[in-house]
Amino acid sequence: DAKAKGRGNYQFFTPALNIAAQQRLTVSNQLRQALVRGEFVLYYQPQVSLRSGAIVGVEALMRWKRCQHGKHDLVSPTHFIPILEEIGLMAEAGKWVLREACMQAAAWQKMGLAPIRLAVNLSARQFAGDDIVRTVIEVLDESGLGPEWLELEITESLMFDDSERIIHAMHELKRLGVSLSLDDFGTGYSSLSYLRRFPVDRVKIDRSFVQDLTTNAGGADIVRSILALSQKLGLAAIAEGVETEAQLGYLRQQGCAEIQGYLFSPPFPAEEMTLLLRSDRRIPLFSHLPLP
Ligand code: C2E
Ligand code: MG
Ligand code: MG
Ligand code: MG
Repeated sequence: DAKAKGRGNYQFFTPALNIAAQQRLTVSNQLRQALVRGEFVLYYQPQVSLRSGAIVGVEALMRWKRCQHGKHDLVSPTHFIPILEEIGLMAEAGKWVLREACMQAAAWQKMGLAPIRLAVNLSARQFAGDDIVRTVIEVLDESGLGPEWLELEITESLMFDDSERIIHAMHELKRLGVSLSLDDFGTGYSSLSYLRRFPVDRVKIDRSFVQDLTTNAGGADIVRSILALSQKLGLAAIAEGVETEAQLGYLRQQGCAEIQGYLFSPPFPAEEMTLLLRSDRRIPLFSHLPLP
């Protein structure tokens, strides 16, 4: 027993693990500096109405322009957001995202572009410590963006514990005139009961179900049920990760109101998104689109 324990302890100090721990420490330190040096940037991905074919919103998505050994690379949020959360910097980074995105949305309106919704992701940590409601009030005030243009995306994982407090905060955000959407819908636990307990305006159908639409027999059933359910509850719906015309055709046929995905556009930096918004490009709403 003691021997097994000893061996276990010894394992901890193998060079491979040491290197992993070392790398994590390095990245943590780089992330702390990234916030100070302004190495985070926002990309924006269009959300398109299937009624008009026009862009009705954009989702702000974080990227890290890391400078290492004199070279730049663009790091995905799936790699660095968990580390930001772990080292306690997500609330601060999230506040930066909210401010930067609201400033940009207000700037687009000032340029005379047709006003569109701005969707910003919130992490669980932003609800936990810091006062999210006060932050939103501050940022709207600072940017001059009308609350009706801001939508906050939250995931079901947020709602695990202390849900009374979170529901209270959500109601306060709604009182400000901000709307709420449930991201990655269908991937968490007890999605259906959450829908009734939490005051959300929109569900975002997770891209795994959209991908399954044409590759897996059950996929279409799941998407159809989510759409029927959201209609019944009076919620808006948007499908994420739409990549093919076949997926688009199915979603249209099932009455999905909006889509987001590479089929229309990937996420772009602000300057490129400005050009796309100016171009007034629309998704072609062919009625002869193939059905799966
Ligand atoms: P999400 O909020 O579900 O965002 C959608 C993700 O799907 C984005 O990945 C987007 O680039 C990707 N995507 C969009 N269309 C397609 C498509 O057609 N095909 C495929 N394969 N992917 C598509 P991204 O930008 O890497 O972000 C990943 C996740 O990181 C986000 O998922 C969100 O959970 C998180 N995240 C990003 N920015 C922020 C932020 O500012 N705050 C917080 N808390 N989380 C963020
Ligand atoms: Mg999102
Ligand atoms: Mg999502
Ligand atoms: Mg996601």
